[in-house]
Amino acid sequence: MDYRAAFQTALGRIHAEGRYRVFADLKRYRGEFPRASWTRADGTSSDVTVWCSNDYLGQGQNPLVLDAMHTAIEEAGAGSGGTRNISGTTHYHVELERELADLHQKEAALLFTSGYVSNEASLSTLYKILPGLLIFSDELNHNSMISGIRSGKREQRRVFRHNDLEHLEQLLLEADPDAPKVIAFESVYSMDGDIADLRGTVALARKYGAMTYLDEVHAVGMYGSRGAGVAERDGVMADIDIVEGTLGKAFGVMGGYIAADAVIVDAIRSYADGFIFTTSLPPALAAGAVASIRYLKAHNEVRIAHQARAAMLKAKMAKAGLPVMPSVSHIVPVLVGDAVHCKLISDILLEDHGIYVQPINYPTVPRGTERLRFTPSPAHTDGMMDELVEALEALWVRCNVQRIGGYAA
Ligand code: PLP
Repeated sequence: MDYRAAFQTALGRIHAEGRYRVFADLKRYRGEFPRASWTRADGTSSDVTVWCSNDYLGQGQNPLVLDAMHTAIEEAGAGSGGTRNISGTTHYHVELERELADLHQKEAALLFTSGYVSNEASLSTLYKILPGLLIFSDELNHNSMISGIRSGKREQRRVFRHNDLEHLEQLLLEADPDAPKVIAFESVYSMDGDIADLRGTVALARKYGAMTYLDEVHAVGMYGSRGAGVAERDGVMADIDIVEGTLGKAFGVMGGYIAADAVIVDAIRSYADGFIFTTSLPPALAAGAVASIRYLKAHNEVRIAHQARAAMLKAKMAKAGLPVMPSVSHIVPVLVGDAVHCKLISDILLEDHGIYVQPINYPTVPRGTERLRFTPSPAHTDGMMDELVEALEALWVRCNVQRIGGYAA
């Protein structure tokens, strides 16, 4: 076998579809979020405004978070030095899990090294704990959830149409009434910016004796009066059996977690390979996350400002006739509908306008729905928005002339 050729062929397929991923080499300026410097392949660099960060509230630059991290490094050093079981449980980890349990008003929480790992490890472990388990999964669930759910047998998995509670009910109705069941879904779907019907899903779970597993990765820190997510906003926190979140987006640091009843957390802690067999997070990350969560619990005005900024950007874009997709959240997706054009528009924005927004292509979104996904934060000013909208307007005209993009407003 010509191994080299096989790798080249695999890459060639991605190039041919126009979805070869090029990472922007960025260095954020401390304290100046969302400004950063961007270094090109030839080594030259220039300043850009970042429009696609998932550090949604700029907490990665909050001086309180940075101070907590510096202090932890001074006090405890760099890494944790082990898995949670073998010397890697530091006081910082314990404190963070308490903080997370309190945030979600649950008995306990469990930390993982990322949101991805928390989903994959927790969902796959549920099959071990609940023999004969059926998992009902929204078709647009994140890859990390799918990966965990796929570890079960084919006959244990049911996929319902996105946010379609009638379809979910039909599948629940068809299932063995005595089988244990989990409904796995997200609150904010991050590529379209739509929000699930939590109340409706919880009601179905009750009716059919299912547990609920809710990914609030794109909601924690940002929704609810203390930032516990959409379940808090919608008054259903107590009805969600397992909530999963990240520390890497609105909390501005890194790591993932679940929060639930103590017995659920203890069982997952005891069976989840992705929790057991890996070095725990560095203490400084845990300390930064605690500071960030505490800050956001107490500062609802940040959430209000965030929503206002997102509404402002949507309004400015709509007024300019740009094809903003119908998001009801803080996420502002603009449809391009073609991988090559999406990348081209993003390249021109970066090179000519100092505006960084990563193209979102297949497999992250279905083919034909390629888009630019903007994430305005409280730190994105009116001036930045006007610059962005002006650049997009010009580009849309230019691109239509060149038959780039399939969508005029
Ligand atoms: N869940 C959802 C819905 C996500 O969008 C992501 C990441 O983008 C994750 C989980 C994984 O979280 P993390 O980035 O902390 O690994």
